[in-house]
Amino acid sequence: MTADRGHPGKGPKPGVVKTVTSLTNPIVKDIRALQQRKFRRETGRFVAEGLKLVTDAVEADWPIEILVHAEKVGAQPQVAQVAARVKARGGLILQVSEQVLGKITHRENPQMVVGVFRQKLTRLADIEPAGSTVWVALEGIKDPGNLGTVIRTVDSVGAAGVILVGDTVDPFSIETVRATMGSIFAVPIARATVAEFLAWKESFPGPVIGTHLAGAVDYRTLNYPEPMILLMGNEQSGLPQPIAAACDQLVKIPMAGKADSLNLAVSTGIMLYEIRRERLVL
Ligand code: SAM
Repeated sequence: MTADRGHPGKGPKPGVVKTVTSLTNPIVKDIRALQQRKFRRETGRFVAEGLKLVTDAVEADWPIEILVHAEKVGAQPQVAQVAARVKARGGLILQVSEQVLGKITHRENPQMVVGVFRQKLTRLADIEPAGSTVWVALEGIKDPGNLGTVIRTVDSVGAAGVILVGDTVDPFSIETVRATMGSIFAVPIARATVAEFLAWKESFPGPVIGTHLAGAVDYRTLNYPEPMILLMGNEQSGLPQPIAAACDQLVKIPMAGKADSLNLAVSTGIMLYEIRRERLVL
């Protein structure tokens, strides 16, 4: 179902523990370069921060290449445990100064544990819509915080995954990954051009419900079938006309005050909780 992206070039030696304090160390420079989208695309890698998040990812068998931790936490049982697992899988363990961690994560108060992981994307063609799934398609989403929050919300409601349509922010940027709070490792993510998405949805066995300020239907009045695709528009301009026209239905969330629209992630949350309402009863 998922496709690993390859990574070229010589990587660090696997299964090794190294202590690094220099900011000019080549491995540290390579990790810092993962701040750039171009470098993430070329290497197929990304950075995630935090002991819990990295441990969860390793336990879920997400491919990890490097575990970086502050020297001072190396003896903590949980850090030692995750380091042993990464090492056993052939990953590199880097013990670094807090200054190096700060540079890697661009933070003054960095997390003490950071992982360098392989990216995984799901191919549109590999999506197998089961009877009770909602895929969230995001057209042209630009804000990493919004994307991370949507991925986290998709995880929270047990929806199927996210499809990034057109020119969007990178799901593997450190800001997006941070905002997912770990859900980046739980939610399948696919990518498609607008043309690819429109062609693919023709064979999807459920409707595409778009959200639009000009939607004629109040979102609370529909019965949502599953599987379905919930289509959300870009932060500034909303859904472009040709894509809105391709939806089976356009719905609107009523607005009472002076604001002209809701935040994209907030409106996605409102929609998902409405769509999945009956399935979320505990
Ligand atoms: N100026 C944009 C417009 O005219 O559509 C506003 C875009 S809004 C910030 C971003 C996305 O959130 C929209 O494309 C839509 O998917 C969703 N959205 C926000 N508020 C909504 C509402 N009241 N009803 C339906 N969808 C909404």
